[in-house]
Order: sequence, then C-alpha cells, then structure tokens
Amino acid sequence: KNLLEIKDLWVNINDKPILKGINLSIAKGESHVIFGRNGSGKSTLLGSIIGLPHLKIVKGDILFKGKSILNLPMYERIKMGIGIIFQRPPTIKGVKLEKLLQIINRSKENIQNIAKELKLHELLKRDVNDGFSGGEIKASEIMQLFLQNPDLLLLDEPDAGVDADNIKIISNYINKLLQADLPKERREKSAIIIVHSGIILEYVNIDIGHVMVDGKLTPPANPYEILDMIKKFGYKKCYEYFSKGK
Ligand code: ADP
Ligand code: MG
Ligand code: MG
Repeated sequence: KNLLEIKDLWVNINDKPILKGINLSIAKGESHVIFGRNGSGKSTLLGSIIGLPHLKIVKGDILFKGKSILNLPMYERIKMGIGIIFQRPPTIKGVKLEKLLQIINRSKENIQNIAKELKLHELLKRDVNDGFSGGEIKASEIMQLFLQNPDLLLLDEPDAGVDADNIKIISNYINKLLQADLPKERREKSAIIIVHSGIILEYVNIDIGHVMVDGKLTPPANPYEILDMIKKFGYKKCYEYFSKGK
C-alpha cells in the first residue's frame, strides 16, 4: 500500500486553476523529484499536501496512510507524519534557533553536534532565520525536519540559494533524512523534493522523477534521464516526451 496517494487533484488559487488533475503515488521508502519552471505549480502541490488554507481543492483526493486528509488542518497532517521545508521559510523574531530546536527535539538528539555538522552552531543563539543566508535557512530547516522525524518529507527547493560547497553538506543531510544509504525495501522515509538546479541529483540518490508543466505532472520516470532531457530540450518537450503513451 502507498504512503501517499494523490488522485485527480484540481486546485484553485483565487478561482484560478493552478493544479489540473494531478495523480501521484508514493510508496514507503521512495523518493521522488519534481522538475518544472517557475510558476508551473510545484509549490502549490506541496502546499496542498500539507494543507495551506488559501488553496482551494476543487476536485480529487489526497490519501496519507490510507486516509483522506483533505479535511484536516495543517497541524493534524504534521502530527500524522508529514514534514515540510517551505521554499521561503519565515523569520521568527524573538525565538532563538536553539530554543526552537530544543522544543522539536523529542528524540533527544545532540543538538550541538548536528548543528556543528551543518555549520549552524554559530547561529543557535540568533532568532530563527533572522538575517540567515539562503544556505543557512535551508540548513536550519533541514535540522528541524531531522528532529521532527516525519515519514513523508516535502522539500521545496532545498538547493535554492545554496553555494556549491554547502550543497554537498545539505545533500549529505538530505541523504541522512531519506535513509538513502539503506536498500529501498528497508527505508522508512518517503520524500517529494522540488529541485531548483539539477546539481543536487549528483549528491542525493533519488528513485523517481516527474516533470510539471502548467499544473500537470508526468507519470513516474528515471530522474536522471529527465534531467538530461531538460538540459537538452527544455521542460515543455520533456513533459510531452514523458507523458506520451500513458
Ligand atoms: P512553482 O513553485 O512551480 O514556481 P507555484 O506553485 O508557486 O509555482 O505557483 C503556481 C502559480 O500560482 C503561479 O502562477 C503563481 O503566481 C500562482 N500563485 C501561487 N501562490 C499564489 C497566491 N498566494 N496568490 C495568487 N497566486 C498565486
Ligand atoms: Mg519557483
Ligand atoms: Mg515554488
């Protein structure tokens, strides 16, 4: 049985159709990547799964662990085991990063050690995301997810604004989050990763890829093959190629 099942999902923002019949199945332990140009609806898809209130579901269903979650508020979905890193996480003034991490840290991980690995130790005493660089924001969000320990990880452009050196560090942590070193059958974690540039695929081991164009998603395909096609022919041609015959 699939961990996540999206069936013919149609979503509007302000009466404008943004997602137009999305179908997506994610098994336990499986990682999916979604490619697509700006404005194609990728963040809207992740927002629909976590339950952002401004997104209007007009048709279809989202099942998580076999149960429809469409009527559940965001915190209930998080309690069920969905975790998200937003494309642009907010600044939280008056809350130190260390304090936030301590609150999330139910499994008693060593915050100092993980922060050091992610080069975040000097930020622990600062307000969450306040003046953090692009890379520091992503690293701090990844650390929060690591401590939260969800079953389904939704990562919106974890590589955006991260320089080449830090992409390796962040990728290592994403691999850890995904348990990518285990064989697929033994992994507990599933993921949807929206990628900004394909570079992250050089470091993160992804099982399945899709292309999104104008609110529509291709069926499952080899992510490395997709990346290659996008580089050569662009998103539109690539979408047409991978949606053929299905
Ligand atoms: P992507 O993540 O692929 O870049 P988005 O899902 O963010 O795309 O956006 C899809 C479309 O929905 C875009 O045209 C965007 O302008 C529009 N959109 C997204 N959020 C809002 C919003 N809060 N209000 C109005 N339009 C929005
Ligand atoms: Mg975008
Ligand atoms: Mg986006």
